[in-house]
Amino acid sequence: MKKTFPLNHEQLKSLVEKYPTPFYIYDEKAIRENMRRFTKAFSIFPKFREHFAVKACPNPYLLKILAQEGCGADCSSLPELMLCEIAGIKKDKVIFTSNETPANEFKYAYANSNIINLDDFTHIDFLEKTLGHLPKTLCFRYNPGSAKHGCNSIIGKPEEAKYGLTREQMIEAYRIAKEKGVEHFGLHTMVASNELNVDFFVDTAKLVFELAVEVKEKTGVRIEFADLGGGIGIPYKPEQKAVDYEELAKKIRAEYDKIIVPAGLDPIGVYWECGRPITGPYGWLVSTAIHEKHIYREYIALDSCMADLMRPGMYGAYHEITVSGKEDAAKDNVYDVVGSLCENCDKFAIQRQLPKIDMGDLVIIHDAGAHGRAMGYNYNGKLRCGELLLREDGTVVEIRRKETINDLFLTLDLDGVEKFKA
Ligand SMILES: *Cc1c(COP(=O)(O)O)cnc(C)c1O
Repeated sequence: MKKTFPLNHEQLKSLVEKYPTPFYIYDEKAIRENMRRFTKAFSIFPKFREHFAVKACPNPYLLKILAQEGCGADCSSLPELMLCEIAGIKKDKVIFTSNETPANEFKYAYANSNIINLDDFTHIDFLEKTLGHLPKTLCFRYNPGSAKHGCNSIIGKPEEAKYGLTREQMIEAYRIAKEKGVEHFGLHTMVASNELNVDFFVDTAKLVFELAVEVKEKTGVRIEFADLGGGIGIPYKPEQKAVDYEELAKKIRAEYDKIIVPAGLDPIGVYWECGRPITGPYGWLVSTAIHEKHIYREYIALDSCMADLMRPGMYGAYHEITVSGKEDAAKDNVYDVVGSLCENCDKFAIQRQLPKIDMGDLVIIHDAGAHGRAMGYNYNGKLRCGELLLREDGTVVEIRRKETINDLFLTLDLDGVEKFKA
């Protein structure tokens, strides 16, 4: 599918006059429409909820939009829990799926009435010591190990992944938690990342549903929600196909009818905690071409760098690139499109066929709305760019300003340096 951008060339040029590049821009209308399609597909379950994975795009303005569309949130750290609080997401719609969690973060999540999802068997004790008791609601993260066939390219094989409890530990965990007074239970797993194969998720759902039945048989604990994690992929490459939400929902519903219903567990909550498919395709990194270089290869350098978008440098991930105003031009040039970091992996695209790029051209990197700016860093003293939101009425608001040099130096006591005797 041809990648699109919500502003035409003239609109983008005038936006850049007000907000110089580089910046991220998100499309509110497209985010809402996608969320409604997702919710509609999964409304065939008696209790469904998406918990947006905050780490994918930790901006409270976007969280507020998603909350309005019925989403809860999935958090992996205390600051992410705080962002949900700021965005006004209802406390019991926030799941805290962390791992190797420090005590103070558990304390905050508990005091804040968020749902705690434990990543390890030993955390039952740790949590009990930390709080003085266990919460009334508790979820456990299942690592299916070799029971899960196939291998996802980002998370890898479950046996080699650091997350979750084994099957035996899961059963034991529910038994102990029940003894210690826990009243409401969830079951979570996450074994995929950026996966486009529907059957991979159906198979995961089957494993989770079967475990819920086994837990009931062996411990008497009734699982109230099954959290299938995140990991639904998006078609980064134009030739890839998006996951069909309706097909996915229907196939999972068939497993639900086969496993959950006959076991008397219906209705059980079916939850997702997706990030990537919720905001990924609806965010773009917009940059200006500022240098061209002709050595053994042809290079185009942007005013952004991998500090703004890590995925290509970190995973060799593909992101489609278009040039504003040259959408229909012939792709008769081959470039490495690079940033300014002193790392040779700072390349947004390698040997990519693109139209001829002139200095000053506005270069759009697609599918950057999840795990984009959030993954950035300040290596090389790079300042990360800001974020804009295209509202449904066509206006644009700044939802995060660019970083400044002052932000970068904020952790240093500069007066102390002056007084410091080397
Ligand atoms: C990263 C993560 C997610 C979201 O993953 P996406 O690929 O963005 O959908 C959800 N849950 C957990 C536990 C995660 O670590």
